[in-house]
Amino acid sequence: MRKRCYAIALTPLLGCSLLLAGCKPKGLVSRSQEVEIGREASREVERQYPVNEDPQLNKLITQIGRNLAQYSDRQDIEYKFKILDLKDVNAISLPGGWIYVYKGLIDATKGNRDELAGVIAHEIGHITARHHADMIGRQTYAAILVGTLTKGDISQIASIFADLSLLRWSRKHEYEADKLGIKCMYRSGNYNPEGLISFFDKLLQMQGREPSEFEQIFRTHPVTSERIARARAYLADLRAGKADP
Ligand code: ZN
Repeated sequence: MRKRCYAIALTPLLGCSLLLAGCKPKGLVSRSQEVEIGREASREVERQYPVNEDPQLNKLITQIGRNLAQYSDRQDIEYKFKILDLKDVNAISLPGGWIYVYKGLIDATKGNRDELAGVIAHEIGHITARHHADMIGRQTYAAILVGTLTKGDISQIASIFADLSLLRWSRKHEYEADKLGIKCMYRSGNYNPEGLISFFDKLLQMQGREPSEFEQIFRTHPVTSERIARARAYLADLRAGKADP
């Protein structure tokens, strides 16, 4: 019932977004507003979805995440890493630095640290490129134009990100986050960037074999063979010195 309410509430905002497509609202949301929205959304996510508190698993995710985050191009925020106790193979990021890896995704990597690092680096990529600001902008651009964000606006935007069933990135965002993730892994030297690509290969195979059972696989970040080819080509360019590390 709750999800349906969101969908209805969002309809007029999405309508605005179509009219304003092509505008570049990224700069409208300040860093502090972004963090405030993320904090509110993370509270909402943790109210609605179970958080996995396993100390070993959390230590692993946090270690990998912090290690990678120090090589990100964006250092003006604090990155936070948590696990959602959901069986879907997915991971999400929220504005301002919150990253949640699903337990189902950790299981799917079967303990392969390079694959796990690939997914986390990709999520760091979304935050680095401020992709959430694009999403915020598309949905509330008109409201933001007429004044500063109120507490109510922030809650409303946070609730958009907290409804995990609605989150889905565009192909453009995915290609960019893949590149930034691979770059981050390459710079760190601690993880093999091939991990992201082998994880994508694995997902494609799983999707082909068990389409219904794995319907939720990486739903927020759809994997296609084009995406894998682009990631592979970019990594080859990095290694050959044809792309800036
Ligand atoms: Zn993504």
